[in-house]
This record gives sequence, C-alpha cells and structure tokens, in this order.
Amino acid sequence: MPMNDESIKSLVRDFFIKYEYNLMIVNIANKYPDERSLYIDFTHIRKFSDELEKLVQKDPERIITLAEIVAKEIANNENISKINIRFKNIPDEFVKKIKEIRSKNIGELISVNGIVNKVTEVGTRLVMASFMCTNCGAVIKKDQDSDILEYPAYCPQCKKKKGETKFKMLEKESVYIDTQKIEIEEKSENIEYDEQPSKIIVYLEDDLIGLTKQGKRVKVTGILKAKQRGIKTQKTLVDRYIYAISIELPDKIESQNERSSYEIILDIIKQINNNGRYPDINEIIKDAEAIGIDEKTVRRIIETLKKDNYIYMPFSGKYKLIE
Ligand SMILES: [Zn+2]
Repeated sequence: MPMNDESIKSLVRDFFIKYEYNLMIVNIANKYPDERSLYIDFTHIRKFSDELEKLVQKDPERIITLAEIVAKEIANNENISKINIRFKNIPDEFVKKIKEIRSKNIGELISVNGIVNKVTEVGTRLVMASFMCTNCGAVIKKDQDSDILEYPAYCPQCKKKKGETKFKMLEKESVYIDTQKIEIEEKSENIEYDEQPSKIIVYLEDDLIGLTKQGKRVKVTGILKAKQRGIKTQKTLVDRYIYAISIELPDKIESQNERSSYEIILDIIKQINNNGRYPDINEIIKDAEAIGIDEKTVRRIIETLKKDNYIYMPFSGKYKLIE
C-alpha cells in the first residue's frame, strides 16, 4: 500500500529520533545560515527500515521534500527557509555508468563517478515567490519549481481569482537559491577506439556550489531528471540531468588534522620551490616531521597531490607545485 505524506513524515520523525538527527538539526539551526545541510548516513537508513530505503531510492524527491519539512519543524525557527537533506556513505549499488542511464531511471536516486569537465557561473533560482494581492493586500507565498513564474490561482483572503485581482511579486520577501551547472565526464578504462566518453549535466545548489572544480574527480548522487528540449515542436526530445543531493570528492582528504597537514605540506613545497629548487620527498618528510607530521601521512598526502595534478615530478623523487 502506498504511504501518504503524513505517514512518511512520521516515519522520518522516528528515524531522526532514533539516530539523533534531531540533535544535529538543532545544532544546524543554531549555526544557520553558515550551516544549511543535514547529512544523513545511508547506512542508518538501511538499518532502520527497508521501506524508507526503497522510498528514498525510488521516489527521492518526495521523501527529501517531506524530510526537509520535518527538519524545519524540528528546527522550529521561522528565520530558516530550508535545511537541505543530503546523504553520505551511499552504497555502491546506486552507482550507474552514465551510458547505462535509461529513461526508466528518471525520478530515481542515482550516483555517477566522473571527472568535472565544465563548470558554469553561479546563477540564481527563485524557489519561493511572495505576492501581494492588490485588491486586499494579503501576502501569498507560492513555491516555484519550473522556469516560468507561477502566480497564485486565487487570493485566500478576499477569494478573488487571478484576473479579478492582480498579484504583485514582492522580490525582497521571496526566497532565492544559488545554482551552478557542471558537466561530468566518465572515462572508461577500456574505452573503444572511436567511442566518445559519456557525459551528463549536473545541477548543484546552495552549499554544494564551489566544492569541486574543473578536472577533479567526483562522485555525484542525485535525482535523475528530464527537461524538454527548447522548442515546442520537439517535445519528445528530452535532456537528462542530475539534480545533485550530495557530492563526494574521492581525492579529498577528509579529517581536519589531515586537512591542515595537507596545507602544511603544500606550504613546504611552495617554500622550497620559491627558493628555485625542487624538493625531494626526504626533504619534505624532514620538514613535516619537525612540525609533528609522520612520514606515512606525508607520503599519503603526496600521493593525493599527485593524483590531483597539484604536483609533478620532473625526475624521480623531486616535486614541483603546479596548482
Ligand atoms: Zn485579496
């Protein structure tokens, strides 16, 4: 039996309580707007309920929208316009090859791996428009989810319909969100001679913007969507894209300590390069150990820097920073 919105919301509420996400939500609310996203560990969903997992996989847009409503209720603060629901530790079975994505996957939660091929400028999307009824002055809020501005059908206060009154948009009281478009390219290892690499467009919003850049490896998880291509006469043609829920950077060093070690090692290499020389690994290790970073960590960071194309070796063991 399909679940209605209220029973899904109560399932989500139980889930939030069981895994202490309600405490995290309160914490986000205290730091809002510096923090705006709740990261849900997918392994918790899996442990909690098959039903919830299936709903997240097959109907993510609905579940995420409802979970965001629940999160906002828990946060209980009218200054918060939205707490984004994002996922981490997404299981590998969600990963699809870009060329294997089919129309039956539209609306589902999928992950793709690839290299960021193109990044466009940050734009703005209207998510909620406020209108004033020019007949009675009532302010009406209307969620926006298409490219065209959607007006209220009628005024809930004076009951006048569109056409009988005018609705004036209140720009300052409307809610906007930053948005960015990237293109991900999947390079297959056993690519055929004349085969083009597969590509897909990904839309990033809000605090996902700027987490990655051109040339970086990335794992994107999001909702597969379809958009009709430009002209009306070609309605059958659609462009598929992913609306990102979360992005993971396989090369990124995660923990705070490793993060600062990473920066220190970058600085050491930069320093030596500035003196007109290429450092070798022993030199970097010696300098890093003086600050308290062990050899193993140095080597791991150097490997990451190489994979990121941050440093190169002109000849064995000597490093130069290229950024
Ligand atoms: Zn009115």
